[in-house]
Amino acid sequence: MVYTSDTMNTTVPDTVSSLKAAFRERGIFLKKRLGQNFLLDRNILRSIVETAGICEHDVVLEIGTGAGNLTQYLGEEAHRVLGVEIDRRLCSLSQDALSPHKNIQVLNTDFLTSKTTIDPDVERLLLEWLQGESGLTLKVVSNLPYSISTPAIITLLEGGLPVEMMVLTLQKEITDRLAARPGTREYGVLSVIAQLFSEIRVVRDLSPEVFWPSPRVESAIVTLTVDKERAHAALPDNYRLFSAIVRTVFQSRRKTLLNSLLKLELPSLDREALLDVLNTLGIEPRRRGETLDLEEFVALVREINTLINGGKTDG
Ligand code: SAH
Repeated sequence: MVYTSDTMNTTVPDTVSSLKAAFRERGIFLKKRLGQNFLLDRNILRSIVETAGICEHDVVLEIGTGAGNLTQYLGEEAHRVLGVEIDRRLCSLSQDALSPHKNIQVLNTDFLTSKTTIDPDVERLLLEWLQGESGLTLKVVSNLPYSISTPAIITLLEGGLPVEMMVLTLQKEITDRLAARPGTREYGVLSVIAQLFSEIRVVRDLSPEVFWPSPRVESAIVTLTVDKERAHAALPDNYRLFSAIVRTVFQSRRKTLLNSLLKLELPSLDREALLDVLNTLGIEPRRRGETLDLEEFVALVREINTLINGGKTDG
């Protein structure tokens, strides 16, 4: 006889009371540090799937499946869904609840094995799925936990996965930074990198009450329409230099651009040479780097790269 546990429930708990009951039954205690704030509102969940335009040609990565509430709606429209959930008990809850959906798989792992590395099993599986059929598109849809929001977004954009679209629910602080304009307090490394790789649109705000338990802060849904080819065309062989310059500028926000660049100690670029570069580009050397827009950063990096390498690539 095949034994099936009577606690195995193959429907996703979609109300606060059913969620509480499932947690009680499985000994699940919520962990604040993992950003466990569940989104149960059917209309909002459907609107996220609709915003992402999920269809049968999409492979979807969902970071943090929780109990599977968003996952099941994604599974109804997508070709396949890969969920990733770090919490072992929550993961097994969502695996059981989603088991009738054959196109959904949930892995119990930390999405990021380091600040800049996606779990290799997750990458391998997604690439395998994408290569399994022609004409498939990779989208990321997630109610992204706060603790990994910034590194996850940057790693997905910089990395090799062919992500074309992200629809993310984030704390407003992060969506403000994604969409920030030069010279504002919110403008930083995340803004510049995200804007290099994608078009950003804040779709709607979400008040804390739509989550259970309610976080202390406002959230928003944001879309990133990713164009990695455009980014690679803008910085074909000098992304590392771009990243180093942007990071240095925002590490010392109050320094002038010239002083930030000097701090980098770029080979054969003394003060005079840097002043020449800025002059050529029409960038006032006393400006703070944090006032540069994306185009200015790109132009600066291209010019410096040419001087360092004499046109050669940095690999
Ligand atoms: N998608 C669900 C749950 C969102 S809460 C919903 O919308 O209701 C965020 C989820 O991310 C939690 O379940 C949490 O355990 C998970 N999580 C947090 N850090 C993670 C990480 N590093 N890797 C994978 N999952 C993570």
